[in-house]
Amino acid sequence: MDTMVNPARPGTTETDLYILRGLLRCADRQMIPAWADDGIRYYACPDTQCDRRLINAEEIEQLIWQRYVHLNADAADIVSRDQRRSALLAVLARITVGSSLVDLDYDWRD
Ligand SMILES: [Zn+2]
Repeated sequence: MDTMVNPARPGTTETDLYILRGLLRCADRQMIPAWADDGIRYYACPDTQCDRRLINAEEIEQLIWQRYVHLNADAADIVSRDQRRSALLAVLARITVGSSLVDLDYDWRD
C-alpha cells in the first residue's frame, strides 16, 4: 500500500480520537495511530512487511464498540462518544487483529 501516513499525536484520554490507542495489536506489535493526507484515520502496523499495514480506524472502532455494547448494553447507554476510550480501557487489556477485521482476539481484564 502506498498511502502516506503520519503518526497521530496523543490527546488526553478524554479527547483522544483514537479510542483504541495502546489496545490494538498485530501479532505482538502495538499498532500505531496514524492519519493519511486525505484525513482518513488508521491504525498502522509498525512492520512494513505486514499484510495489515493499515487498518481503517473508524471501521475497527465501530466493530469493537459494537462488541462492547453487545456485552455491556446497560453501560453503553450512558457512555458518550468522548468516554468510549475510557470505557474500553477499563475492560480490555488488548485486542489482537487476526487475518481479517472479523478475526479479533479480545483480551478482557479480569
Ligand atoms: Zn502487522
